[in-house]
Amino acid sequence: MKDNSIAEVTFWPIDIPLTDPFVVATGARVVAENIFVRITLQSGVCGFGEAAPFPEVGGEDRPSCLDTLTLLAKLLVGHSIQNYRQMAQQMADQAPEQPAARCALETALLDACCRAADIPMWQFWGGADVRPRETDITIPIGTADDTLALARHWHQKGFRLFKMKVGKDVDEDIRRVEAVHNTLPDVAFIGDGNQGFSREECLAFVDGIRRFGGKLLLLEQPVERDDLESLAHIRRTTGIPVAADESVRSLADARTVVGQQAADYINIKIMKTGVLEAKEIASFALKSGLKLMIGGMIESRLAMGCSFGLVLGIKGFEVLDLDTPLLLATDPVMEGYHYTGAHLQPWATAGLGLAVNAPSYRQTTIGA
Ligand SMILES: [Mg+2]
Repeated sequence: MKDNSIAEVTFWPIDIPLTDPFVVATGARVVAENIFVRITLQSGVCGFGEAAPFPEVGGEDRPSCLDTLTLLAKLLVGHSIQNYRQMAQQMADQAPEQPAARCALETALLDACCRAADIPMWQFWGGADVRPRETDITIPIGTADDTLALARHWHQKGFRLFKMKVGKDVDEDIRRVEAVHNTLPDVAFIGDGNQGFSREECLAFVDGIRRFGGKLLLLEQPVERDDLESLAHIRRTTGIPVAADESVRSLADARTVVGQQAADYINIKIMKTGVLEAKEIASFALKSGLKLMIGGMIESRLAMGCSFGLVLGIKGFEVLDLDTPLLLATDPVMEGYHYTGAHLQPWATAGLGLAVNAPSYRQTTIGA
């Protein structure tokens, strides 16, 4: 019998430059300031995870994540990987406001667990929907020229669902979407307001898109996260499905959104809640008759592989927004799932089926 207890937890910061500035209604990024985690079992088996804190959404930044990782890693060392669920719960109790740090450790625990059992992570969730899946591509807020150049670039690579970041200036937002529609008429749109619109602005946005015949499939978090009344109003009056993203940062939030009939979709993100709670929210949403979308912060293929594992494992994710590795200028991940055009291709090896290299400096190890 192999020794599946945790020998050590190692983590290190990683800066991944973005190809283009990532501008949304709540903030901007040119570099993803993430953290990679490696958990090593006594048997020698390793698992990997990633934290992608996005301060404007989750309130976490990298320094606070690193502090939390030090604290939580001490809880894990010496315990058997089989106690994954208890450890996830303990971490949630210890660091409720640090979901990105917890997510990194949970992902690494799960990855190690699946590698020890020699099953791909999607098998751990049931393996109910294993097939290549199409993702949207995100177009950040920018000038009309920049928007069009990016849109052409992605269209040529095969992307047909464009998630337009909007919510800063309605008229400008409409003009940007119209410019893309006129140039690339076979493209459909998601409008992601990141809480930037008022109710009236959102309704004006929808009217504007309808005037030129744009295919608007989904409105994601158009208004502030607590304004569930406006979300409900918008979905009823426009007839366009609404996805709750920032409004759902816990299972309790999901219950409230469902109770108020405020959304058609819930956007699941492991960075908002950790992995286990994300799975619980997904199951709850499906059971409640809502649809699932899945997205991420600015993540490499490490964290996004974990999300793709949920998609492959649980049937019911309709909209995939798993594109951020494509927005990064470099790919720090070896093997794992990969992209062909707009499609994510499943992997077949154990765990997440990938690896990352720890630098020889700037790493922290917590061990016995
Ligand atoms: Mg969003």
